[in-house]
Amino acid sequence: MVCGPRTIDEEAGEELVSIKLLKTQLRCAICYEILNDPYTVKSCLHSFCNRCITNQVRNLGMCPSCRMPIGSKRLLRASKNVDQIIKLLLDDINLYNEVHAKKREEKLGKLFDINQFRREIKQQLQR
Ligand SMILES: [Zn+2]
Ligand SMILES: [Zn+2]
Repeated sequence: MVCGPRTIDEEAGEELVSIKLLKTQLRCAICYEILNDPYTVKSCLHSFCNRCITNQVRNLGMCPSCRMPIGSKRLLRASKNVDQIIKLLLDDINLYNEVHAKKREEKLGKLFDINQFRREIKQQLQR
């Protein structure tokens, strides 16, 4: 997934939908931010930021999403894989936004030139 050059093609628009969905899935239910140093509750598999769930375990002793009792931090585990997915995903989103902001600028800046467009497509196919 990480190796090889990244390409952004016209299909990226379709993938954006799932990125949006993923982003909501990767949100912490306590602070509503994208998970920061994610920890997963072993028994129910809900994930939260390390800091958020540590406070919840200390204060409430249960999972804030499903109220599963959590007696101690030993019932949590670090989600290194989720952490990696988030970092990759955010990289991709930033890259996607960069490329598309540029494209929008170009479109607004000049009238559509079909020959230029064909040259660009050709260049992309040659990459
Ligand atoms: Zn959080
Ligand atoms: Zn839970």
